Amino acid sequence: MNGLMMHKQMLISSLIIHADRHHGDTEIVSRRVEGDLHRYTFRDCHRRARQLANALANLDVKPSDRVGTLAWNGYRHMELYYGVSGRGAVMHTINPRLHEDQVVYIADHAEDKYIFFDLTFLPLVQAIAARCTTVKAFVAMTDRAHMPEDCGIANLLCYEDLLEDSSPDYEWPSLDEDSASTLCYTSGTTGNPKGVLYSHRSTLLHTFAAALPDALNCSSRDTILPVVPMFHVNAWGIPYIACMVGAKLVFPGPALDGKSLYELFEAEQVTLSAGVPTVWQGLLGYVEQNGLAFSNMKRTVIGGAACSPSMLRTFQEDHGVQVLHAWGMTELSPLGTVGTLKSRHSTMSAIDRHAVQCKQGRAVFGVDMKIVDQDGAELPWNGQTSGELLVRGPWVVRNYFRSEDGNPLRIDGGAHGWFPTGDVATIDADGFMQITDRSKDVIKSGGEWIGSIELENIAMAHPAVSQAACIGAKHAKWDERPLLIVVRKPEADLTGEQMRMFYEGKVAKWWIPDDVVFVDAVPLGATGKILKNRLREQFGDHLLGGAH
Ligand code: AMP
Repeated sequence: MNGLMMHKQMLISSLIIHADRHHGDTEIVSRRVEGDLHRYTFRDCHRRARQLANALANLDVKPSDRVGTLAWNGYRHMELYYGVSGRGAVMHTINPRLHEDQVVYIADHAEDKYIFFDLTFLPLVQAIAARCTTVKAFVAMTDRAHMPEDCGIANLLCYEDLLEDSSPDYEWPSLDEDSASTLCYTSGTTGNPKGVLYSHRSTLLHTFAAALPDALNCSSRDTILPVVPMFHVNAWGIPYIACMVGAKLVFPGPALDGKSLYELFEAEQVTLSAGVPTVWQGLLGYVEQNGLAFSNMKRTVIGGAACSPSMLRTFQEDHGVQVLHAWGMTELSPLGTVGTLKSRHSTMSAIDRHAVQCKQGRAVFGVDMKIVDQDGAELPWNGQTSGELLVRGPWVVRNYFRSEDGNPLRIDGGAHGWFPTGDVATIDADGFMQITDRSKDVIKSGGEWIGSIELENIAMAHPAVSQAACIGAKHAKWDERPLLIVVRKPEADLTGEQMRMFYEGKVAKWWIPDDVVFVDAVPLGATGKILKNRLREQFGDHLLGGAH
């Protein structure tokens, strides 16, 4: 017998309709590429998203057509999120920090019909325009006064002109909730990027789960500033969450340095933010150097890469900002786990509590996870045994878009299979998962595994260290040994031997890195993560033939 409840489709357009009706006066503040601050409300955003939907119809954008963007976090990008998906087309956010050949590959693979871009990316668009064979026109996300002249792009349109010529009279269509809404390519460090194609239903379910109190804990009392880009897995869902709960949104545009971010946090009284550790490094550095404090920040989501214990301590103890350490992937829309404490942790010592918070956290409802050994056998949740992390759930990828590599899922008797994350993790009795490594980054010394993340976390706790990355360098006797690559803080004094001594008593002797290399900067990928494969190419032979 079926239940007798309505079967209303779960659609992305329902989020902006809700935000308009129930939080119409709530503000969206954006730092524009043009330099100034722009303010309007959810009601304005909804009106312009409807104008955009009409403009897209005039441009002959049909259901399922892909519309690409090369853009920062801002209100026009938000209008595209709703205007494109809401009318049944597929919003395709492209990471503009990728190499231009990769951008061309992605636009071509996705068969983007239009690409909307912020003026910052004009040189990139000029370089790729002639090579993007499926793109009918490029749309500059600006007004007539700021339109570039004689820039050599054959089909160039102006965003504000398109909107001006379009009526806000538009009714969002009732779509099948399983239809594709959004496309994001993974920032894979090897091989070609792979497209993850979200649906309206997966997005709505992810939004419900991500907003929960033990997840990102968002409400209409929040002012949220996503530093994480809208081209990196939908800014971790924040443009959708804000509409669902009615939180004020603050978009930082292109100004992601510590000073600009801090000033915006303070001016707009931001309560919640989200970003990768490298961004917080810059912000904390600025705040520390200038003896500043956060007046309204309550929590920050840190994910995309491991949050080191020292960063967690600085935020929580020096600044009273609660850290929500989260783990996710493009393939998970992205949220998988969040390190929110349970009530029994409140009686723990601060040190023990921090240790729990430094884990990547508990699965949000909807995500099943398990760890397995090399033969696929499930491993115990004892906080010690590590294995490959597998996940499944309604917002986990089933297959990549137009994939030629076959289905990535592991089928083990379950009808739906499990997605192999490529992460190596432990899970403790409370269900807190801790990433010990990417499977390809794990260091194998004499057949034993050494977790690079723990070694990096210890290095980051040294006062002279600004950034640290640990790789497995080839070794004649042990196959691989840990090699630490360090960026010192400005004017800090630190020798390799002092760094190695710092590990004494903190890890088993055989885990201590064999050598330390000091560099001016570590290579960062397009989403701000350290590119370990690049470091392995550069320093992989460092320990061969030497006296180590
Ligand atoms: P992406 O799809 O680009 O967001 O990358 C996903 C990968 O980032 C994961 O598979 C992890 O290896 C890594 N990652 C994400 N969050 C964390 C975290 N909190 N700690 C450690 N690694 C993380």
